[in-house]
Amino acid sequence: MDIREGFAGAVGKTPLIRLKGLSEECGCEILGKAEFLNPGGSIKDRTALGLILDAEKRGQIRPGGVIVEGTAGNTGIGLALVGRARGYRTVIVMPETQSREKIEMLRLSGAEVRLVPAVPYRNPENYVHQSRRLAEALSQEETAGAFWANQFDNTANRDFHAATTGPEIWQQTDGRVDAFVCAAGTGGTLAGVGRYLQSQRAGIQTGLADPAGSAVCSLLQRGEAVTEGNSISEGIGNSRITANLEGARIDQAWTIPDEESLPLVWRMMEEEGLMLGSSSGVNLAGALRMAESLGRGHTIVTMLCDSALRYRAKLFNPDFLQEKGLPFPTWLRDAVKP
Ligand code: PMP
Repeated sequence: MDIREGFAGAVGKTPLIRLKGLSEECGCEILGKAEFLNPGGSIKDRTALGLILDAEKRGQIRPGGVIVEGTAGNTGIGLALVGRARGYRTVIVMPETQSREKIEMLRLSGAEVRLVPAVPYRNPENYVHQSRRLAEALSQEETAGAFWANQFDNTANRDFHAATTGPEIWQQTDGRVDAFVCAAGTGGTLAGVGRYLQSQRAGIQTGLADPAGSAVCSLLQRGEAVTEGNSISEGIGNSRITANLEGARIDQAWTIPDEESLPLVWRMMEEEGLMLGSSSGVNLAGALRMAESLGRGHTIVTMLCDSALRYRAKLFNPDFLQEKGLPFPTWLRDAVKP
């Protein structure tokens, strides 16, 4: 029998998919880990579960308690579902700029959603700081207490990736993986998977694919926050090095413009039948940059973080894309005609 136990049991153990067209083109094996198949629909189900299991172990959350988090959406969906499955309420603080589909999904998942203006991290009204203050306030008010998940700086996030996602990739490739590439939101995936893979073989390369407008690439390369351009991708990029990313060995880093990543999202739809969100496009662009740098014959793993359905109104909206001056395929207009 192969039966998994509830929500927690259904998280992870996602397939690793060979992307044939991309692999043939660059001469490396490009493998995408199908994180969109997690029960809440994204890689962040792993983070949510990892943070809550750690909090339970440490006694930081009690039955009937409240989970509070600031999130671009996917972690919130994961937390709300973990909360449903394990008996916690969830309150999510989120920038109002995030996709409508994620906000709707959060509410359907049972979370109480508080939308706040999108302001930089240095502003005390930033969603992360608001979520911390809200958790402090609820800790006093709620009898069963409140737990601030703090995905950016709670290193239980990267530790969970090191304990689960990393070993899955190692086993699925029979240890033949040469490089791991992905974008960083919290940095938990890149730091955790990278740490585990490099503990198995130190020569395994790690690469950061950073969306335009994020400072992480320049912070890693030059120690200063320099940003250029912007990106419609959600959930990735940052203005700082989080505690999860701090100290991680990252061998290469690139800034990826939307003009480079979006065509890969369309291409995965056209040639693989894979419906992906925008961060997956950034990751695939990074995997191709890594292939260019390593040369032919290497195995490169990246993450397919979530699905296109979560971004229908933006990423799959020709009017929105046209307004931003971004490329889209001719079939998209016909496909979304009312
Ligand atoms: N892709 C998507 C769609 C996400 O929501 C996130 C996290 N917010 C990431 C990638 C980045 O993952 P991490 O936080 O582990 O860096």
